Amino acid sequence: FESRFNLPHLKDVFPDAVPIPSTFCLRMRTPTEDFAEGYPSDEKWHGYINNNDRVLLKVIHYSSPTSAGAQCIDPDCTWVEQWVHRAGPREEIYFRPEEVKAAIVTCGGLCPGLNDVIRQIVITLEIYGVKKIVGIPFGYRGFSDEELTEMPLSRKVVQNVHLSGGSLLGVSRGGPSISEIVDTMEKRGINMLFVLGGNGTHAGANAIHDECRKRRLRVAVVGVPKTIDNDILLMDKTFGFDTAVEEAQRAINSAYIEAHSAYHGIGFVKLMGRSSGYIAMHASLASGQIDICLIPEVPFHLHGPHGVLSHLKYLIETKGSAVVCVAEGAGQKYLEKTNAKDASGNIVLGDIGVHIQQETKKFFREIGVPADVKYIDPTYMIRACRANASDGILCTVLGQNAVHGAFAGYSGITVGICNTHYVYFPIPEVIQYPRSVDPNSRMWHRCLTSTGQPDFI
Ligand code: ATP
Ligand code: MG
Repeated sequence: FESRFNLPHLKDVFPDAVPIPSTFCLRMRTPTEDFAEGYPSDEKWHGYINNNDRVLLKVIHYSSPTSAGAQCIDPDCTWVEQWVHRAGPREEIYFRPEEVKAAIVTCGGLCPGLNDVIRQIVITLEIYGVKKIVGIPFGYRGFSDEELTEMPLSRKVVQNVHLSGGSLLGVSRGGPSISEIVDTMEKRGINMLFVLGGNGTHAGANAIHDECRKRRLRVAVVGVPKTIDNDILLMDKTFGFDTAVEEAQRAINSAYIEAHSAYHGIGFVKLMGRSSGYIAMHASLASGQIDICLIPEVPFHLHGPHGVLSHLKYLIETKGSAVVCVAEGAGQKYLEKTNAKDASGNIVLGDIGVHIQQETKKFFREIGVPADVKYIDPTYMIRACRANASDGILCTVLGQNAVHGAFAGYSGITVGICNTHYVYFPIPEVIQYPRSVDPNSRMWHRCLTSTGQPDFI
């Protein structure tokens, strides 16, 4: 099957590149008598992933283009198939482990699971036989700042790092130019680079990959998508998201207890989600304690007969209390634009949580109804958590697959889970724009059913 997502490979630039047998020891059982009959004896049984293995990305059959939740890839066709390259160890590899110097860098904001991925990359590299493994401190900045020296990594160093959140290597925004980064890589002899970060970091990783090709360097650049917001295209979920949703329950529950214990209590919880409301939506669905969920993808009025504040009044009159979950990127039209940008060039958002809390207090004061408003912003408590069990597994598989991808000779790729299978994507395919909640999706409608909120328009 043809894949729409062809992966860049070292052979594209070095047609003379000769693979060697993999040094990665697969612990597969050879077939026993179960396979004795009918199993072609001349075919080797190994368990490595074939480069032609494909994972079915999506098959959607919808009865009409207006069916809620149907994602229409090709509007003229009711059956759509897309195939993606399967991730995992290959039988032939394009790097000799003794010639590899691997570097790991973590950029952007914190996300539960970063240490788990770092750890697993190091462990897998060692199993291939790589001796030179280093961490680049504080994101891309570590490539230019003379005072930031490489951190030697080994199984011994990373053994217990997953027991705490954050990143062993440190993170940062902004940093040196792409050519400066590649200069440093050349100088230090780095020929495998593992980049953990979000959209911005991946744009950087792809530019590093392009620059290496331009300079004809035999380098593999492999990304591992780190976005707590779960906003990477085509992937089922990204690591840290599950932990974030779980941890958000504690904040929501506190807001609920506060609201229910106060006379006319209203609790606000602001959760992450600059452009995608997945955390807010999933946390609301999971908790069952949210009356109003506000996300960036769905516009809402605050004031007026159909606005959020009127509904809060209704909830206070009928239930006596209310809990609201708002994603950080929701309702930005209500906030003054500052044009301020962070070091990476991302627009600094206004604080919708604070704004909505103040507007609520003002509204109830003006209508003469007492209201006890509380506001919780658990963002930094959630980001700094260690990964939960489900994310721990995801990080482990992604970390291993990142190393397998690099040894297989791919570069400019990223790893992910797609339709429950682990796959590789060319970086540009997944960072064109952030994935967002479809307001017509079944999931958003399930969320509305669960909160009981009306349309605030
Ligand atoms: P987060 O989800 O935490 O925002 P991110 O990877 O998007 O993660 P950014 O701060 O936007 O975080 O970017 C991280 C790094 O990537 C920074 O060092 C930044 O300079 C670099 N970067 C961002 N955008 C680009 C780009 N378009 N091209 C090259 N490098 C970029
Ligand atoms: Mg970003």
